[in-house]
Amino acid sequence: MKWKGRRQSSNVEDKRGGSGSSRGIGGFNPMLLGPLIKLLFSKTGLIIVAVLLVFSFITGNNPISFLGNIFLGGNSQPASTESYQGTAEENIQAEFSATILASTEDVWNTILDNYQEPTLVLFSGYVTSACGSASSATGPFYCPGDQKLYLDLSFFEDMERQMNAPGDFAQAYVIAHEVGHNVQKLMGTMDKVNRLKGQLSETEFNKVSVRLELQADFLAGVWANRSQRMTQMM
Ligand SMILES: [Zn+2]
Repeated sequence: MKWKGRRQSSNVEDKRGGSGSSRGIGGFNPMLLGPLIKLLFSKTGLIIVAVLLVFSFITGNNPISFLGNIFLGGNSQPASTESYQGTAEENIQAEFSATILASTEDVWNTILDNYQEPTLVLFSGYVTSACGSASSATGPFYCPGDQKLYLDLSFFEDMERQMNAPGDFAQAYVIAHEVGHNVQKLMGTMDKVNRLKGQLSETEFNKVSVRLELQADFLAGVWANRSQRMTQMM
């Protein structure tokens, strides 16, 4: 595909390297949250807060970081804000993905009025979405809850090695398929199918799910066709 040098979408969240993982902010242990909240609303808690406020007023120290020092054993350093340094190949794949996403935006904006562009979340290993947590083993997926597509770039390598689907068009198709789910969400098809979940037998619901997947493939095909006509990218 002739994709290099084309517009890259800005709707990309790069969570590779674990910044989207469940490690929590600054290494805070979520197990402490319950007892901490209980403490804050008890009589002793109110006294501690009052003392802390007076303390911070006198010393100029931030009471939150002081609390952090108490609960985290002096380790309240903020989480690393360094951006993820991928391999050269990974970074090319990230640029490729942002370019394909931009191309789907160009296509669907011409087809649909008020098209809501989805966000592409790049992750490595493990990610948390509005649909729950997922590992790379899940494969790329679309979450209707936050209208984001989730992709671990290592999936592209798996496609080449294990699924015998090499080439950048196959990779672009994966992204366009997930974008197809976003179109289904916007058209109400996805919600319609989800409502059937409790009403149909498992077998019947599986049939409907397969049809939903086939339609996402069809919508990916619509993207390929329009994009080729608009840009001769393939
Ligand atoms: Zn799908």
